[in-house]
Amino acid sequence: MTSHNQELFDASQKRIPGGVNSPVRAFRSVGGTPLFFKRGQGAYVWDADDKRYIDYVGSWGPMIAGHCHPEVVRAVQDAAAQGLGFGAPTASELEMAELLCKLLPSLEMVRLVSSGTEATMTAIRLARGYTGRSRIIKFEGCYHGHSDGLLVKAGSGALTFGQPSSSGVPAEIAKLTTVLDYNDAAGLERAFSEMGSEIAAVIVEPVAGNMNLIAPKREFLDALRNLCTRHGAVLILDEVMTGFRVSLQGAQGYYGIKPDLVTLGKVMGGGLPAAAFGGKKEIMQCLAPLGAVYQAGTLSGNPVAVAAGLATLKLVQEPGFYERLARLAKQLTEGLSMSAKKHGVAFCAQSVGGMFGLYFSDALPESYGEVMSCDKEAFNRFFHAMLGQDVYLAPSAFEAGFVSSAHTEADIEATIAAADKIFSAWK
Ligand SMILES: *Cc1c(COP(=O)(O)O)cnc(C)c1O
Repeated sequence: MTSHNQELFDASQKRIPGGVNSPVRAFRSVGGTPLFFKRGQGAYVWDADDKRYIDYVGSWGPMIAGHCHPEVVRAVQDAAAQGLGFGAPTASELEMAELLCKLLPSLEMVRLVSSGTEATMTAIRLARGYTGRSRIIKFEGCYHGHSDGLLVKAGSGALTFGQPSSSGVPAEIAKLTTVLDYNDAAGLERAFSEMGSEIAAVIVEPVAGNMNLIAPKREFLDALRNLCTRHGAVLILDEVMTGFRVSLQGAQGYYGIKPDLVTLGKVMGGGLPAAAFGGKKEIMQCLAPLGAVYQAGTLSGNPVAVAAGLATLKLVQEPGFYERLARLAKQLTEGLSMSAKKHGVAFCAQSVGGMFGLYFSDALPESYGEVMSCDKEAFNRFFHAMLGQDVYLAPSAFEAGFVSSAHTEADIEATIAAADKIFSAWK
Protein backbone atom coordinates (compact mmCIF):
# COMPACT_ATOMS: atom_id res chain seq x y z
CA MET A 1 0.00 0.00 0.00
CA THR A 2 1.48 3.37 -0.95
CA SER A 3 1.23 6.11 1.60
CA HIS A 4 -0.23 9.40 0.47
CA ASN A 5 1.84 11.11 3.13
CA GLN A 6 4.97 9.70 1.52
CA GLU A 7 3.87 10.67 -2.01
CA LEU A 8 3.06 14.19 -0.93
CA PHE A 9 6.33 14.50 0.96
CA ASP A 10 8.36 13.23 -2.00
CA ALA A 11 6.68 15.73 -4.33
CA SER A 12 6.90 18.59 -1.82
CA GLN A 13 10.64 18.16 -1.43
CA LYS A 14 11.04 18.98 -5.12
CA ARG A 15 9.38 22.38 -4.81
CA ILE A 16 9.63 23.43 -1.16
CA PRO A 17 12.96 23.32 0.69
CA GLY A 18 12.82 20.24 2.89
CA GLY A 19 9.22 19.75 1.78
CA VAL A 20 7.92 22.07 4.49
CA ASN A 21 7.20 25.73 5.12
CA SER A 22 8.51 25.69 8.70
CA PRO A 23 11.43 23.42 9.65
CA VAL A 24 10.13 21.45 12.65
CA ARG A 25 7.30 20.09 10.49
CA ALA A 26 9.83 18.03 8.54
CA PHE A 27 10.23 15.43 11.35
CA ARG A 28 14.02 15.83 11.14
CA SER A 29 14.27 15.63 14.90
CA VAL A 30 12.26 12.40 15.26
CA GLY A 31 12.98 10.89 11.82
CA GLY A 32 10.47 9.43 9.39
CA THR A 33 7.90 10.96 7.06
CA PRO A 34 5.87 13.95 8.21
CA LEU A 35 2.12 13.59 8.24
CA PHE A 36 0.21 15.72 5.76
CA PHE A 37 -3.08 16.72 7.31
CA LYS A 38 -6.27 17.15 5.39
CA ARG A 39 -8.83 17.80 8.06
CA GLY A 40 -9.33 18.56 11.72
CA GLN A 41 -12.39 18.36 13.93
CA GLY A 42 -12.37 19.06 17.65
CA ALA A 43 -9.48 17.18 19.25
CA TYR A 44 -8.78 15.11 16.13
CA VAL A 45 -6.84 15.47 12.92
CA TRP A 46 -6.85 13.23 9.84
CA ASP A 47 -3.78 12.65 7.71
CA ALA A 48 -3.56 12.17 3.94
CA ASP A 49 -4.16 8.43 4.42
CA ASP A 50 -7.38 9.17 6.33
CA LYS A 51 -5.91 7.97 9.60
CA ARG A 52 -7.29 9.77 12.65
CA TYR A 53 -5.11 11.01 15.51
CA ILE A 54 -5.76 12.62 18.86
CA ASP A 55 -3.97 15.94 18.37
CA TYR A 56 -1.71 17.43 21.06
CA VAL A 57 -0.08 20.00 18.77
CA GLY A 58 -3.13 22.11 17.97
CA SER A 59 -1.34 23.97 15.18
CA TRP A 60 1.41 24.70 17.79
CA GLY A 61 -1.01 26.27 20.20
CA PRO A 62 -3.69 28.34 18.47
CA MET A 63 -6.41 25.67 18.36
CA ILE A 64 -7.33 26.04 22.03
CA ALA A 65 -11.02 25.50 21.24
CA GLY A 66 -10.28 22.50 19.02
CA HIS A 67 -10.31 22.32 15.25
CA CYS A 68 -13.23 23.83 13.34
CA HIS A 69 -15.13 25.08 16.34
CA PRO A 70 -18.49 26.02 14.77
CA GLU A 71 -18.49 29.51 16.28
CA VAL A 72 -15.01 30.27 15.03
CA VAL A 73 -15.80 28.92 11.57
CA ARG A 74 -19.00 30.97 11.42
CA ALA A 75 -17.20 34.15 12.49
CA VAL A 76 -14.58 33.62 9.78
CA GLN A 77 -17.22 32.97 7.11
CA ASP A 78 -19.21 36.04 8.13
CA ALA A 79 -16.12 38.25 8.10
CA ALA A 80 -14.94 36.88 4.75
CA ALA A 81 -18.32 37.63 3.20
CA GLN A 82 -17.87 41.28 4.17
CA GLY A 83 -14.48 41.64 2.52
CA LEU A 84 -11.14 39.88 2.95
CA GLY A 85 -9.21 43.02 3.76
CA PHE A 86 -9.09 46.75 3.22
CA GLY A 87 -5.73 48.01 4.41
CA ALA A 88 -7.72 50.57 6.35
CA PRO A 89 -8.97 50.58 9.93
CA THR A 90 -12.01 48.50 10.88
CA ALA A 91 -14.25 48.35 13.94
CA SER A 92 -13.19 44.75 14.62
CA GLU A 93 -9.58 45.85 15.21
CA LEU A 94 -10.81 48.30 17.82
CA GLU A 95 -12.86 45.53 19.42
CA MET A 96 -9.76 43.31 19.54
CA ALA A 97 -7.56 46.08 20.95
CA GLU A 98 -10.11 46.90 23.66
CA LEU A 99 -10.56 43.24 24.54
CA LEU A 100 -6.81 42.60 24.81
CA CYS A 101 -6.39 45.65 27.05
CA LYS A 102 -9.30 44.50 29.21
CA LEU A 103 -8.03 40.94 29.61
CA LEU A 104 -4.36 41.86 30.17
CA PRO A 105 -4.14 44.86 32.49
CA SER A 106 -0.48 45.47 31.56
CA LEU A 107 -1.68 46.55 28.11
CA GLU A 108 -2.60 50.19 27.81
CA MET A 109 -2.21 50.25 24.04
CA VAL A 110 -1.68 47.51 21.46
CA ARG A 111 -0.84 47.18 17.82
CA LEU A 112 -1.94 44.21 15.72
CA VAL A 113 0.46 42.41 13.40
CA SER A 114 0.31 39.07 11.59
CA SER A 115 2.86 36.80 13.30
CA GLY A 116 4.67 36.33 16.57
CA THR A 117 7.94 37.02 14.80
CA GLU A 118 6.71 40.45 13.76
CA ALA A 119 5.47 41.16 17.27
CA THR A 120 8.77 40.34 19.00
CA MET A 121 10.93 41.98 16.33
CA THR A 122 8.98 45.20 16.65
CA ALA A 123 8.84 45.08 20.45
CA ILE A 124 12.65 45.00 20.44
CA ARG A 125 12.88 47.95 18.04
CA LEU A 126 10.39 49.85 20.13
CA ALA A 127 12.33 49.18 23.33
CA ARG A 128 15.49 50.41 21.64
CA GLY A 129 13.76 53.51 20.34
CA TYR A 130 12.25 54.23 23.73
CA THR A 131 15.43 53.76 25.75
CA GLY A 132 17.97 54.95 23.18
CA ARG A 133 20.03 51.84 24.00
CA SER A 134 21.12 48.94 21.75
CA ARG A 135 21.80 45.83 23.80
CA ILE A 136 19.16 43.19 24.47
CA ILE A 137 19.15 40.13 26.70
CA LYS A 138 17.52 36.83 25.86
CA PHE A 139 17.77 33.36 27.38
CA GLU A 140 19.23 30.20 25.88
CA GLY A 141 16.49 27.91 24.58
CA CYS A 142 13.79 30.60 24.46
CA TYR A 143 12.43 31.22 20.97
CA HIS A 144 11.10 34.58 19.93
CA GLY A 145 10.62 34.16 16.20
CA HIS A 146 13.23 34.28 13.47
CA SER A 147 14.37 37.91 13.29
CA ASP A 148 18.16 38.44 13.10
CA GLY A 149 18.76 39.77 16.60
CA LEU A 150 16.87 36.89 18.20
CA LEU A 151 18.49 33.98 16.35
CA VAL A 152 21.42 34.18 18.68
CA LYS A 153 23.07 31.71 21.04
CA ALA A 154 25.47 32.24 23.91
CA GLY A 155 29.05 32.94 23.00
CA SER A 156 31.79 31.15 24.88
CA GLY A 157 32.53 32.50 28.35
CA ALA A 158 30.02 33.79 30.82
CA LEU A 159 29.26 37.30 29.61
CA THR A 160 30.56 37.49 26.08
CA PHE A 161 28.50 38.66 23.17
CA GLY A 162 26.03 36.38 21.44
CA GLN A 163 26.79 34.46 18.28
CA PRO A 164 24.44 33.82 15.36
CA SER A 165 22.48 30.57 15.72
CA SER A 166 21.59 30.74 12.03
CA SER A 167 23.71 31.26 8.99
CA GLY A 168 22.86 34.59 7.40
CA VAL A 169 22.65 36.48 10.68
CA PRO A 170 25.57 38.96 10.75
CA ALA A 171 27.90 38.55 13.73
CA GLU A 172 27.70 42.33 14.18
CA ILE A 173 23.99 42.04 14.88
CA ALA A 174 24.29 38.95 17.09
CA LYS A 175 26.83 40.83 19.21
CA LEU A 176 24.12 43.17 20.41
CA THR A 177 22.29 40.26 22.02
CA THR A 178 23.51 38.81 25.29
CA VAL A 179 22.30 35.26 25.91
CA LEU A 180 21.93 34.07 29.50
CA ASP A 181 20.68 30.92 31.23
CA TYR A 182 16.95 30.62 31.84
CA ASN A 183 15.98 30.61 35.51
CA ASP A 184 19.41 31.97 36.51
CA ALA A 185 18.60 35.06 38.58
CA ALA A 186 22.22 35.49 39.68
CA GLY A 187 23.44 35.44 36.07
CA LEU A 188 20.94 38.14 35.18
CA GLU A 189 22.04 40.22 38.14
CA ARG A 190 25.68 39.92 37.03
CA ALA A 191 24.84 40.98 33.48
CA PHE A 192 23.00 44.06 34.73
CA SER A 193 25.78 45.02 37.09
CA GLU A 194 28.30 44.88 34.21
CA MET A 195 26.30 46.64 31.52
CA GLY A 196 22.98 47.77 32.94
CA SER A 197 23.14 51.17 31.30
CA GLU A 198 23.44 49.60 27.82
CA ILE A 199 20.48 47.25 28.09
CA ALA A 200 17.40 48.31 26.14
CA ALA A 201 15.31 45.25 26.87
CA VAL A 202 15.12 41.79 28.32
CA ILE A 203 12.88 39.45 26.35
CA VAL A 204 11.73 36.21 27.95
CA GLU A 205 9.16 33.45 27.64
CA PRO A 206 7.48 33.57 31.06
CA VAL A 207 7.02 29.81 30.76
CA ALA A 208 9.61 28.46 28.35
CA GLY A 209 7.74 26.43 25.75
CA ASN A 210 10.21 26.17 22.90
CA MET A 211 12.73 23.93 24.68
CA ASN A 212 10.06 21.46 25.78
CA LEU A 213 8.50 23.13 28.85
CA ILE A 214 10.42 24.81 31.64
CA ALA A 215 8.50 26.47 34.43
CA PRO A 216 9.95 29.75 35.70
CA LYS A 217 11.32 29.99 39.21
CA ARG A 218 9.80 32.70 41.37
CA GLU A 219 13.16 34.30 42.09
CA PHE A 220 13.88 34.46 38.35
CA LEU A 221 10.62 36.26 37.60
CA ASP A 222 11.20 38.67 40.48
CA ALA A 223 14.77 39.35 39.33
CA LEU A 224 13.55 40.10 35.80
CA ARG A 225 11.09 42.69 37.03
CA ASN A 226 13.31 44.26 39.66
CA LEU A 227 16.48 44.51 37.58
CA CYS A 228 14.68 45.96 34.55
CA THR A 229 13.03 48.55 36.77
CA ARG A 230 16.23 49.44 38.55
CA HIS A 231 18.27 49.84 35.35
CA GLY A 232 15.61 51.42 33.14
CA ALA A 233 15.39 48.46 30.76
CA VAL A 234 12.15 47.37 29.11
CA LEU A 235 10.85 43.98 30.27
CA ILE A 236 9.25 42.20 27.32
CA LEU A 237 7.20 39.14 28.23
CA ASP A 238 6.90 37.09 25.08
CA GLU A 239 3.46 35.56 25.61
CA VAL A 240 3.02 34.45 22.00
CA MET A 241 2.66 30.91 23.34
CA THR A 242 1.53 31.44 26.93
CA GLY A 243 -1.01 34.21 26.27
CA PHE A 244 -4.56 32.84 26.68
CA ARG A 245 -2.90 29.42 27.02
CA VAL A 246 -1.81 29.12 30.65
CA SER A 247 -4.67 31.30 31.91
CA LEU A 248 -7.06 33.98 30.68
CA GLN A 249 -4.53 36.55 31.94
CA GLY A 250 -1.60 34.68 30.41
CA ALA A 251 1.54 33.87 32.35
CA GLN A 252 1.65 37.46 33.65
CA GLY A 253 -1.61 36.83 35.50
CA TYR A 254 -0.74 33.26 36.43
CA TYR A 255 2.50 34.31 38.12
CA GLY A 256 1.66 37.90 38.96
CA ILE A 257 4.42 39.65 37.04
CA LYS A 258 3.98 43.02 35.37
CA PRO A 259 5.77 43.50 32.04
CA ASP A 260 6.45 46.76 30.22
CA LEU A 261 5.71 45.23 26.82
CA VAL A 262 3.91 42.02 25.89
CA THR A 263 3.90 40.06 22.66
CA LEU A 264 0.96 37.88 21.69
CA GLY A 265 0.10 35.51 18.85
CA LYS A 266 -1.03 31.91 18.44
CA VAL A 267 -4.30 31.66 20.49
CA MET A 268 -5.24 35.29 19.84
CA GLY A 269 -5.50 34.50 16.10
CA GLY A 270 -7.63 31.41 16.64
CA GLY A 271 -5.65 29.61 13.91
CA LEU A 272 -5.37 32.51 11.47
CA PRO A 273 -2.42 34.94 11.24
CA ALA A 274 -3.04 37.50 13.96
CA ALA A 275 -0.58 38.65 16.60
CA ALA A 276 0.01 41.76 18.66
CA PHE A 277 2.39 43.68 20.85
CA GLY A 278 1.43 46.21 23.45
CA GLY A 279 2.09 47.62 26.87
CA LYS A 280 2.72 50.91 28.56
CA LYS A 281 1.27 53.90 26.76
CA GLU A 282 4.44 55.87 27.27
CA ILE A 283 6.37 53.26 25.29
CA MET A 284 3.69 52.49 22.70
CA GLN A 285 3.38 56.16 21.81
CA CYS A 286 6.91 56.03 20.42
CA LEU A 287 5.47 54.09 17.44
CA ALA A 288 4.77 55.71 14.09
CA PRO A 289 2.68 57.66 13.30
CA LEU A 290 2.83 59.15 16.82
CA GLY A 291 6.52 58.62 17.33
CA ALA A 292 9.75 57.91 15.51
CA VAL A 293 9.85 54.08 15.70
CA TYR A 294 8.68 52.74 12.36
CA GLN A 295 6.53 49.64 11.93
CA ALA A 296 3.82 48.79 9.40
CA GLY A 297 1.95 45.86 7.83
CA THR A 298 -0.24 45.46 4.75
CA LEU A 299 -2.16 42.62 6.39
CA SER A 300 -2.02 43.90 9.98
CA GLY A 301 -5.40 43.65 11.68
CA ASN A 302 -6.80 41.61 8.80
CA PRO A 303 -10.55 41.38 9.42
CA VAL A 304 -10.85 37.62 8.82
CA ALA A 305 -7.95 36.85 11.15
CA VAL A 306 -9.30 39.24 13.76
CA ALA A 307 -12.72 37.58 13.52
CA ALA A 308 -11.19 34.15 14.19
CA GLY A 309 -9.33 35.62 17.15
CA LEU A 310 -12.33 37.40 18.61
CA ALA A 311 -14.49 34.27 18.32
CA THR A 312 -11.79 32.20 20.03
CA LEU A 313 -11.29 34.77 22.79
CA LYS A 314 -15.03 34.72 23.38
CA LEU A 315 -14.93 30.97 23.95
CA VAL A 316 -12.02 31.10 26.38
CA GLN A 317 -13.87 33.64 28.54
CA GLU A 318 -16.62 31.14 29.32
CA PRO A 319 -16.67 30.37 33.05
CA GLY A 320 -14.50 27.39 33.97
CA PHE A 321 -12.73 27.23 30.61
CA TYR A 322 -9.18 27.34 31.99
CA GLU A 323 -9.98 25.25 35.05
CA ARG A 324 -11.14 22.44 32.78
CA LEU A 325 -8.22 22.90 30.37
CA ALA A 326 -5.71 22.73 33.22
CA ARG A 327 -7.49 19.69 34.67
CA LEU A 328 -7.21 17.84 31.34
CA ALA A 329 -3.52 18.68 30.98
CA LYS A 330 -2.91 17.52 34.55
CA GLN A 331 -4.88 14.33 34.02
CA LEU A 332 -2.66 13.62 31.02
CA THR A 333 0.70 14.34 32.64
CA GLU A 334 -0.18 12.54 35.89
CA GLY A 335 -1.55 9.52 34.02
CA LEU A 336 1.54 9.26 31.83
CA SER A 337 3.87 9.69 34.81
CA MET A 338 2.06 7.00 36.81
CA SER A 339 2.19 4.56 33.91
CA ALA A 340 5.91 5.19 33.37
CA LYS A 341 6.58 4.71 37.06
CA LYS A 342 4.64 1.45 37.10
CA HIS A 343 6.80 0.12 34.28
CA GLY A 344 10.09 1.53 35.55
CA VAL A 345 10.57 4.01 32.69
CA ALA A 346 12.69 7.09 33.43
CA PHE A 347 10.05 9.64 32.54
CA CYS A 348 8.30 12.60 34.08
CA ALA A 349 5.85 15.28 32.98
CA GLN A 350 4.28 18.53 34.10
CA SER A 351 1.71 21.05 32.93
CA VAL A 352 1.05 24.76 33.35
CA GLY A 353 -2.54 25.62 32.45
CA GLY A 354 -3.23 24.18 28.99
CA MET A 355 0.38 23.42 28.05
CA PHE A 356 2.50 20.48 29.08
CA GLY A 357 6.00 18.98 28.89
CA LEU A 358 7.05 15.32 28.66
CA TYR A 359 10.61 14.38 29.65
CA PHE A 360 12.56 11.15 29.40
CA SER A 361 14.41 11.98 32.56
CA ASP A 362 14.09 11.25 36.30
CA ALA A 363 13.48 14.86 37.32
CA LEU A 364 11.71 17.89 35.88
CA PRO A 365 14.28 20.06 34.08
CA GLU A 366 14.74 23.63 35.31
CA SER A 367 17.33 24.85 32.80
CA TYR A 368 18.31 24.55 29.15
CA GLY A 369 21.17 22.24 30.11
CA GLU A 370 18.87 19.91 32.02
CA VAL A 371 16.42 19.75 29.10
CA MET A 372 19.27 18.96 26.73
CA SER A 373 20.33 16.03 28.88
CA CYS A 374 16.92 14.32 28.63
CA ASP A 375 16.97 11.11 26.57
CA LYS A 376 16.13 12.33 23.08
CA GLU A 377 16.31 8.86 21.51
CA ALA A 378 13.77 7.60 24.02
CA PHE A 379 11.45 10.46 23.11
CA ASN A 380 11.80 9.70 19.41
CA ARG A 381 10.91 6.04 19.97
CA PHE A 382 7.96 7.08 22.12
CA PHE A 383 6.81 9.60 19.53
CA HIS A 384 6.66 7.03 16.74
CA ALA A 385 5.08 4.40 18.97
CA MET A 386 2.37 6.92 19.94
CA LEU A 387 1.77 7.74 16.27
CA GLY A 388 1.24 4.02 15.80
CA GLN A 389 -1.38 4.26 18.56
CA ASP A 390 -3.11 7.18 16.78
CA VAL A 391 -1.78 9.93 19.04
CA TYR A 392 -0.08 12.95 17.47
CA LEU A 393 2.53 14.62 19.70
CA ALA A 394 4.85 17.44 18.62
CA PRO A 395 7.54 15.88 16.40
CA SER A 396 10.45 16.96 18.62
CA ALA A 397 11.61 16.35 22.17
CA PHE A 398 12.05 20.12 22.54
CA GLU A 399 8.50 21.35 22.08
CA ALA A 400 5.69 21.82 24.56
CA GLY A 401 2.36 20.04 24.05
CA PHE A 402 -1.15 21.49 24.12
CA VAL A 403 -4.62 20.34 25.06
CA SER A 404 -7.80 21.99 23.81
CA SER A 405 -11.27 22.39 25.20
CA ALA A 406 -12.41 19.83 22.60
CA HIS A 407 -10.39 17.09 24.29
CA THR A 408 -12.49 14.89 26.56
CA GLU A 409 -11.49 12.88 29.60
CA ALA A 410 -11.99 9.82 27.39
CA ASP A 411 -9.44 11.17 24.88
CA ILE A 412 -6.96 11.65 27.70
CA GLU A 413 -7.65 8.16 29.07
CA ALA A 414 -7.15 6.68 25.59
CA THR A 415 -3.84 8.53 25.32
CA ILE A 416 -2.67 7.23 28.70
CA ALA A 417 -3.73 3.70 27.75
CA ALA A 418 -1.74 3.98 24.50
CA ALA A 419 1.35 5.10 26.42
CA ASP A 420 0.82 2.35 29.00
CA LYS A 421 0.95 -0.24 26.24
CA ILE A 422 4.21 1.27 25.01
CA PHE A 423 5.76 1.64 28.47
CA SER A 424 4.83 -1.95 29.39
CA ALA A 425 7.10 -3.18 26.57
CA TRP A 426 9.80 -0.52 27.18
CA LYS A 427 13.38 -1.54 27.65
C1 LIG B 1 5.66 30.76 18.17
C2 LIG B 1 6.41 31.74 18.93
C3 LIG B 1 6.93 32.90 18.34
C4 LIG B 1 6.88 33.14 16.86
O1 LIG B 1 5.60 33.27 16.38
P1 LIG B 1 5.31 33.05 14.81
O2 LIG B 1 3.87 33.38 14.67
O3 LIG B 1 5.65 31.62 14.52
O4 LIG B 1 6.19 33.98 14.08
C5 LIG B 1 7.52 33.85 19.16
N1 LIG B 1 7.62 33.65 20.47
C6 LIG B 1 7.14 32.55 21.08
C7 LIG B 1 7.27 32.41 22.55
C8 LIG B 1 6.55 31.55 20.33
O5 LIG B 1 6.13 30.43 20.93
